[in-house]
Amino acid sequence: MSVRENVTKFLSEMPRNAFGEQVKLVAAVKMQTAEAINEAIAAGVEAIGDNHVQEFREKYDRIAGAERHFIGHLQTNKVKYLIGKTDLYQSLDRPELAEELSRRSVRAGVASSVLVQVNIGCEESKGGYAFEEAMDAAQALDGTEGLLVKGYMAMLPISEDEGYLRALVQKMRSLYDETKRVLPHIEYLSMGMSGDWKLCVENGSNMIRIGTTLFGARDYSQKQTQG
Ligand SMILES: *Cc1c(COP(=O)(O)O)cnc(C)c1O
Repeated sequence: MSVRENVTKFLSEMPRNAFGEQVKLVAAVKMQTAEAINEAIAAGVEAIGDNHVQEFREKYDRIAGAERHFIGHLQTNKVKYLIGKTDLYQSLDRPELAEELSRRSVRAGVASSVLVQVNIGCEESKGGYAFEEAMDAAQALDGTEGLLVKGYMAMLPISEDEGYLRALVQKMRSLYDETKRVLPHIEYLSMGMSGDWKLCVENGSNMIRIGTTLFGARDYSQKQTQG
């Protein structure tokens, strides 16, 4: 199936989440060509998420008509290339990155919208704030000049134990709801990729980041950074 067909089918079948909220689809576009990304946008994708700053820069001017999100690990020395061009930084995972985003945003005269990334599976290989410190972090970051907190992002660990994974999403949803009481403007809980988005949506996620299901399997033997 073409990207267009994949997107059309995906959007037509996407349910509301467990809370009756609409779920926002973000196309995860790492290693995809500008042509494929524009095809996805033409088929109804409203937001795209990049992982690599270099790819983001190479393709930036050749993609139009969608919100631009950054969803990958972001080095502080590369923040300058994204400022003013990114609608949502989904992977705010550490204080040093927050400082740099704040500093650069203030300097550019923009407010940068961010999601606080939470390391919900306590995985050493993943970035993010610890669950226990996430709410304090969200409040502090929202009060930081140049930053506007819009919610949380998290990635589920690999596990066969569906009950465990459900519990993790529910825990994140509780954190989101609790935070929304003090920061009423937050609107996103970004959880769910091709392999686990249904479980996430069924348990309260309202933003999903989908790559493989829309674009097909990525070919890591042949990096397509030229886009
Ligand atoms: C690649 C990626 C996705 C999408 O993964 P798929 O399994 O291809 O859907 C989602 N989120 C992040 C942060 C990613 O890097």
